[in-house]
Amino acid sequence: MSKIKMFALGGLNESGKNTYIVEIDEKIFILDCGLKYATDSMYGIDYILPNYKYLIQNKNKIVGVFLTHAHLENMGGIFDLINEIPDLKVYATKYTKEYLLLEGLNEKNIIEIKAHKKVSFGDVSVFPINVSHSVPDAVMYVINTKDGAICYTGDFLIDPTMDNAYSMDLGKIAYVGKQGVLCLMSESSFSESSGHTSPKHRLTNWFKDTMNHNQGRLIISVLPVHLHTIQEIFDASLNMHRKVVIMGKKLQNIVNMAVKNGYLNVGKGIIGDLSDVDTERCILLVCDEREKPYASIQRVVNGNDKFIKVKNTDTFVFAEPNYDACEKLFVHIQEEIAMQGAKSISIPKGKTILHHASQEDLMIMLNLVKPKYYMPVKGEYRLMVNNANLASSLGMDAKNIILKQNGDVVLFVDGEMKEKFENIGVEDILIDGKSSDDVGELVIKDREMLGENGIMLISATVDKKTKKVLVGPEVTTRGFIYVKDSLEMIEEIKRMSLDIIEKNTTPSYVDYNQIKNEIREELSKYFYHETECKPMIIAVIQEV
Ligand SMILES: [Zn+2]
Repeated sequence: MSKIKMFALGGLNESGKNTYIVEIDEKIFILDCGLKYATDSMYGIDYILPNYKYLIQNKNKIVGVFLTHAHLENMGGIFDLINEIPDLKVYATKYTKEYLLLEGLNEKNIIEIKAHKKVSFGDVSVFPINVSHSVPDAVMYVINTKDGAICYTGDFLIDPTMDNAYSMDLGKIAYVGKQGVLCLMSESSFSESSGHTSPKHRLTNWFKDTMNHNQGRLIISVLPVHLHTIQEIFDASLNMHRKVVIMGKKLQNIVNMAVKNGYLNVGKGIIGDLSDVDTERCILLVCDEREKPYASIQRVVNGNDKFIKVKNTDTFVFAEPNYDACEKLFVHIQEEIAMQGAKSISIPKGKTILHHASQEDLMIMLNLVKPKYYMPVKGEYRLMVNNANLASSLGMDAKNIILKQNGDVVLFVDGEMKEKFENIGVEDILIDGKSSDDVGELVIKDREMLGENGIMLISATVDKKTKKVLVGPEVTTRGFIYVKDSLEMIEEIKRMSLDIIEKNTTPSYVDYNQIKNEIREELSKYFYHETECKPMIIAVIQEV
C-alpha cells in the first residue's frame, strides 16, 4: 500500500513543457521533460521551461527522467535540468537517445531502454510500450505500483499500417488494462477532432502526386523532428525514381543517424550529393526549425544559399505545419518565389503533422486501459475538458476524472484519491538565448513596452548645495517620436518636468521618488493625450 503524489510542472492548460511527476512513497519518477516554444509576443525569449525548484530540492529522491519520444516539447528541458542536477539519469529508447547525443547530451546521463523490457526500482517498476507517433521509437509508460499501474501515453495515434519503429502494441496495452490501472494520463492535443486520426495523416500519395505534376526540381522544406514525413518523401521519391539531396549539416546528421540505425528506409542510390543539386527532377530537402521558421528556405529564396540557386522550373514544397504568427512572413516568401517565376505548394491544411490521438483513438486507449482514474494532460484547458468529456461519455464517474492545473497535487493513498489541496510553485522560467538564465516577467513587460511604444528619458542635474537645477531637464527619445518633428512637444515636456522638479525641491531636500513618480504620471497623461502613445518614461535626476 502506497502514498502516491502526482502533479505536472508543465503541460497542463498549455501546449509544451510537458513534465509530469509521479512520486511513489520516497521515489520520484519524472515523465518527460519538455520545453515550450515562445510566441512572437515574448520579445526575444527563445523558449520557456517549468520551474525545477521542487526537483532540485528533492533530487535525492529522483529515480530518473523517462522520455516518451524525441520532440522538444517532451524532452527539450533535459539540458537545463541536467545543469541543475548533473548526475540525473535519463531513460530513453534508442532513437531518442541517438537524437539527444546529436544535440550534445553526455552519454553518461542516458540509459537506453527497450519497449516491453521492464526496468525495476525496488517494489516499483517501469514498463515502456511502443506507440505510433511522427517520430520512431515513441513509447508510453506504465509505472507498476502496489496499488495498480499509473500509465502515461505521451503522444500517439492508432494506425495499424505504421510498422517497425512506428508500430503500436495494442495487445500489450490491453494486457496492462487487465492487470488493473489506477490512473491513466492521456494526451489531449487533438481531443477536438472527431473520428480517428488515421488515415488523414498519410502523405506518401500526396508527395507522389506532387512529384508527378511538377517535373522540375522540388525544394521541400521539412521539420527534422517529424522523421515520418521524411520517410514518406523518400518512399514517394523511390516510387517516382527521383534522387534526394539532403541540404544542411543538421538535417544530414539526423538523416545519417536514422539511416545508420535503421530508422529511415531509403532505396539504394536514392540519396544524392551536392553534385546533383542542379540536376532536373532532383529533390532537395531543406531543414526548417521551429525556433527560426522558414529561415533556410528564405536564404534560398533571397539568393543567399551557397548551393541552391532558384530556377523558374523549381517548385517549393512546404511540408511543415503552418506556424502561428508567421503568416506575414510566409506570404512574403511565397511572393518572392512567384517573382522568380518558381512555384510554391503547401501540404493541404488538415493534413499536416497529424500524429496525435483524435477522439476515437482516445476512446480506444481508455477502453483498453480501463483505468480507475482518468487524467487528461498535454493541451490547453478546453482540450483537457474535451478529453474529460470523452471519458464521461464512456460512462466514467465524474469524481474519477481529474482536471488539474500545473502544480496541483493529486494524492492517492492506498489506491484512493484524497481531497486535499496542495500546489507546488510552478512559475515559468523564460530562457533568452543559450544562457539558461531566467529573464523574468518584468523584463518581458519592459521589452513589450519598448517594442510597442518606445522610450523617453528625462534627465537633469541638481546642485548639491543650492538644490537648483544646473543642467536640463534634457529629453531623449527612442522608437517613439522624432525630436525634429516635435520640437514644440519636447519644449512642453521640458517645462513640465522642470515644474515637477522645482515643486518637489526645497533648499535642503530633493524628493526624488516623488519627482520620478510625478514625471511618469504627468507625462504619460500628456503623451497619451497628444499622441495616443504610452512610451516607457524614465526620469534620472542626479546631484553634483
Ligand atoms: Zn510529439
